[in-house]
Amino acid sequence: MSASASETVAAVARPLRTVPQPTAESQPFWDACARHELVIQRCNSCGRFWFPPSNRCQHCWSENFAWTPASGSGELYTFTVFRRAYAPELAEQLPYVVGIVELEEGPRLITNVVDCEPDNVRVGMLIEVVFHDIAEGVSLHAFRPRRTRKTPGTGAA
Ligand SMILES: [Zn+2]
Repeated sequence: MSASASETVAAVARPLRTVPQPTAESQPFWDACARHELVIQRCNSCGRFWFPPSNRCQHCWSENFAWTPASGSGELYTFTVFRRAYAPELAEQLPYVVGIVELEEGPRLITNVVDCEPDNVRVGMLIEVVFHDIAEGVSLHAFRPRRTRKTPGTGAA
């Protein structure tokens, strides 16, 4: 019995990253990530957005909300560069950047900054979402320096 159990474990590919454990509130967010879509909750009463997921508006406490596609664009609010393997499963990723992104819609979320040398990461840089498939049906969001051109007059660099 134990032999077959270890065979099963060995047959499952080890993800390069920690796999999210969705809650009832965050399940729609992770389902959207698997489709490579970034969604956040928007209140139908006051119109504002929030993150992380919760079962009511973080501004007016209304329980009337909708999961809404986000622009996927924002700017880097702050960040740190990890050069030590505090999480052993991420040792191969070193050095990597963990940042807080402020989305155009307003909410901030913790994420990785990718496709950019850690020494070139700057607070305030314009960034956009990308998705990495890490396991069957599981994708993680990350942000990279913005490549998408904005139309003139939006104030984007
Ligand atoms: Zn509200």
